[in-house]
Amino acid sequence: MTPVSYLRAGSVADAVGLGGAEGHRLLGGGTNLVDLMRKGVERPAVLVDVSRLSTLIEEAADGSVVIGAGARNCAVAAHPLVRTRYPMLARAILAGASAQIRNMATVGGNLLQRTRCLYFADAAGSRCNKRVPGSGCDAQGGFTRYHAILGASPSCIATHPSDMAVALAALDARVHLANADGVRTISLPDLHRLPGDRPDLETMLAPGEVIVAVELPPSDVAARSTYRKVRDRASYAFALVSVAAGIALDGDRISDVRIALGGVAAKPWRALRAEAALRGGPATAEAFARAAEGELADAAPLPGNAFKVPLAKRTMAAVLAELSGNRA
Ligand code: SF4
Repeated sequence: MTPVSYLRAGSVADAVGLGGAEGHRLLGGGTNLVDLMRKGVERPAVLVDVSRLSTLIEEAADGSVVIGAGARNCAVAAHPLVRTRYPMLARAILAGASAQIRNMATVGGNLLQRTRCLYFADAAGSRCNKRVPGSGCDAQGGFTRYHAILGASPSCIATHPSDMAVALAALDARVHLANADGVRTISLPDLHRLPGDRPDLETMLAPGEVIVAVELPPSDVAARSTYRKVRDRASYAFALVSVAAGIALDGDRISDVRIALGGVAAKPWRALRAEAALRGGPATAEAFARAAEGELADAAPLPGNAFKVPLAKRTMAAVLAELSGNRA
């Protein structure tokens, strides 16, 4: 057994100071980190508990909704501001994990959770470039049903497991980060990295930076939005493919649209190509199918996950059709 010390950060400044120290790891709800410690993937010497910092969910003066990084997933999904203004976010959170896990998991921890690639979690028996840079990738040629079809690299084909992050990407959420110099803000779609030749680098956080809040800006598309998750069983399973989408209509035309895909890449995949193709055009089944086709044009599936390409296209088109009232 490896001894681990436990500290509780009393302030954001504490968290910044302690979290960046050698061997220290920030602890939210622990629903992923503690699992990985049990498996020997993570071996922190000190856990710094930040779960009691920044737990508020409130409306800002400009109409944004600010969610503290320590807010529990269940609290976010149930909050009236989220349920009424950003239904895709409430649905995405409710589609993730079990009720017990949602009661523990925090917003900050959810964003920073690690991939569920089986080979990444098998510290004793599998090679993994994300866990041990340069060691190889046993997923290549292995069991790839849950792996990426977009943005992968020869170094890593893992997917990001969060449902919540997919909705936040579609909503253009802003992530507030604290560091020794103060606070900076980064757009959620820019928070996570694609693997390239450094799959061990997963986010744009600098060493010692701490997520303190997520801000949902006012949005024309959020009120008419949803999240659909396709998975192997009805609950407690990660997405094979998921779609977060919101649409604003002006008669039969699309005045604005936001789309992000989950289960297909190492980060929430913002479907910018499909959005550009749809914006200003007709809200028809044909337009949705064509936009989905274009978004997946660069997909590079493996034999074990080729089914994800048509699944992603069909799911995206079906969600957009549903949101626009299933027009022909
Ligand atoms: Fe590791 Fe990525 Fe390969 Fe999985 S896909 S074994 S996380 S390098």
